[in-house]
Order: sequence, then structure tokens, then C-alpha cells
Amino acid sequence: MKIQEADAKSLLLAQGLPVPAWDVARTAADARAAATRILADGNDKVVVKAQVLVGGRGKAGGVRLAGSADEAEAVAAAILALTIKGIPVRKVLVAPAADIAREYYLGAILDRASRRIVVMASAEGGVEIEEVARVRPEAIHRVAAHPHLGLLDWQARQLAFGIGLGGPFLRDFVSIARGLVATMVAYDADLVEVNPLAIVRESDGTGAATTERLVCLDAKITLDDSALPRHPELEALRDPDSEDPADAEARAMGIAFIHLDGSIGCMVNGAGLAMTTMDLVKRAGGEPANFLDIGGGARSDKVAAAMRLILADPKVRAILVNIFGGITRGDEVARGLIEARAVQERDVPMVVRIVGTNAEEAGRLLTEARFETAASLDEAAAKAVAAAAAVGS
Ligand code: GDP
Ligand code: MN
Repeated sequence: MKIQEADAKSLLLAQGLPVPAWDVARTAADARAAATRILADGNDKVVVKAQVLVGGRGKAGGVRLAGSADEAEAVAAAILALTIKGIPVRKVLVAPAADIAREYYLGAILDRASRRIVVMASAEGGVEIEEVARVRPEAIHRVAAHPHLGLLDWQARQLAFGIGLGGPFLRDFVSIARGLVATMVAYDADLVEVNPLAIVRESDGTGAATTERLVCLDAKITLDDSALPRHPELEALRDPDSEDPADAEARAMGIAFIHLDGSIGCMVNGAGLAMTTMDLVKRAGGEPANFLDIGGGARSDKVAAAMRLILADPKVRAILVNIFGGITRGDEVARGLIEARAVQERDVPMVVRIVGTNAEEAGRLLTEARFETAASLDEAAAKAVAAAAAVGS
């Protein structure tokens, strides 16, 4: 589950990280009120930031500065009218604008290969890290945290030296890097990213002297969905406005559903069988459009919901249904498929393989309804791939 910047910042703050204060506004008028308070506090500018669950908001015009309450209101209105990467902006964050001296990247991820939390830092902050990783991978420095001891001070210092941070910032960098790992652990996150981690100039209030310090200007956190039951309080951070409607429906129906990039929609019962089915689709020369496990004992309404989820993806050109009837009854699935096809908006070739409980009854129903069936999984995969290729050309 991805959470909004403002919520991610709350979690970082709770772990003791330096995050400048902020407000969240749903309307331009509220943004104006927040800006008025911030400007009255002695700040000369505010930053207004779109709260959407995608990166690159800056480039998309979703991060803007304003020097007056009027300007803040206008800027907020403009940002609230944006749709960034397909997601309409419904909230903005308003904060004192930072006077940035330098931007760095700092992130922690769960690295499955090393089975450790890996902390990454780069002197090329602010920009999308995926781009840095592609063009200049050597500009990203990594260390793996110890599974029990966390990130050790010397490891954090190694990262700091790698990105050329030293002197007065070293101590703060070490505590921020350790705080990222602590945040990963505290909330079972998959990713905690601060980009930019910035050196900002701050005046002492009289304007006579400025100091520099490291602060987290942006925050991105992805929580491990499977660990959410351990953190019921985090469920409140789910943002239905920004959630992919397909993901929300899948969750509500108890269907495990993951979007992929291919063209063959897969409907399978059981996670292992779903993965095997995806492998066989690939072996037959196709690319799966999704992983979908309708679970055990699925009734026809669940089958219909799964069909809607698959068809909502415009890339899907053929559907492969692979059901191993145990608790799940083949005839029940067949009925679900027939009902679903009767109401579906898009006609896509479908190949169905059902074996196990009530497979004969399922076969009879499907043949009657003129569904394409297959006896073996290899045959089903080959037929689905051929059907998708025929549609594609
Ligand atoms: P993202 O584009 O979605 O990653 O949003 P960010 O919060 O990282 O903002 C993008 C860029 O806007 C940053 O890299 C900064 O260069 C700039 N920016 C963000 N906040 C401020 C701020 O308070 N003051 C200034 N001057 N620039 C900011
Ligand atoms: Mn950013």
C-alpha cells in the first residue's frame, strides 16, 4: 500500500526524523488559510504540493512556490485542477518553502536477493532515482543493514562519505539514515524514500545569520500489504481516492490480483497454480497481463468479479481460465463464466480449462455456451497465446 507524502512524513516524524512542518488542504481556500499562517510566522514563501501517489509531481507542475496568500490560493487551485499520470489531485500539502542549498537521495528498500534492508544514497538527488540507476548506476551507494542490529553508524558514515557529505552534516545524516531503517522495521515497509534529502538554509529569525541543516523535503513510503494486519492503525492511511479501482475491487472481493504488462489475462484458483499458469503462458510465447488467484471455493459472483478485473485492462487480448476443482466446483466456475460473458462489455477470446470436482458438468455447460475449452494446460496456454496474437494483428 502506498501512502501519501503527508502521511509518510508523519511516520518519519514519529521516528524522530527532521521533517519541516506542513498542512494539508482540500480546497484552494484552505490552502490560502494555511499559507496565511505560514507567512505570518515569518516565512517569505510557501510551497504547495499535489498529494497524489505517483512520483515526478515536480515535473508535472504539481510542486509550486508562492510568495503571498493570493498567489498560494491561485497555485493551489491550479494544482487541484491537475490530473497527474492519470490520478486527479484532490489534496495539496502546504509548507514553508525551503531554501535549498543541495539535494540528495536517500532510500531504504527491502532487498529480496540479500534478504536485508538495503539503504541507498546518491548525491544526485531531486531527480527520479530510476533514471540515475539507469544512466549512472555508480552514482548510487548502497549498504545492507544488519538484520538484528540495524544500520550501524559506520555503515551510515560510509554512505555519507560516498555522496560527499561530511563535516557538520555527518552526525545528522547518520541519524536520518538509521531512522529510515527504523521506519522500515517499525511499520513493515517495503520502501522508505526521501528524495530530496536537502541541505536547507535557515535564518535565525533576525536575518542576521543563516545556518544550514539536513531535512527530509519529500517522503515516499510503501507498506507491505501482507503485514498490514500487524498495524491496524495504518489502514486509516489508505487513500481510496488514489487507489486503482481494480485493486480496490479485488481487495473487497478477496481476490489476489496483480497487474502485469502482457496481453493474456489469467484467471486461476490457487497462488501456485496461478504462477505455473503464468510460466506456461510465457513458455507458449505469450506474456501474462496479470496474476489472479480467485481463491478456494469461489462462487459464480467471484468469477464474474475476476472477469471484470481482467477485462478492465485494455491490454488484455485473450483470457486463459485455469481451474483445478477441489473445494472449488468446476460447474460453479463455468456458470460464473457464462453469466460474466453475458454482461461483459468487451468481447475477448477465452480459453477455459477446468479439471477436478464437477469437471464433466463444467465441460457440458461450457460446450453448450460455445466456450473454447482445453484438456491440458499446455493446450490451453497455446490456444490463448494464438488467440491473442490473432487479435493483435
Ligand atoms: P516529486 O517531484 O514528486 O518527487 O516532488 P518533490 O517534493 O521531491 O519536489 C520536486 C522538486 O521540487 C524538488 O526536488 C525540489 O527541487 C523542488 N522543491 C520541493 N519542495 C521545495 C521547497 O520547499 N523549496 C524549493 N525551493 N524547492 C522545492
Ligand atoms: Mn521527490
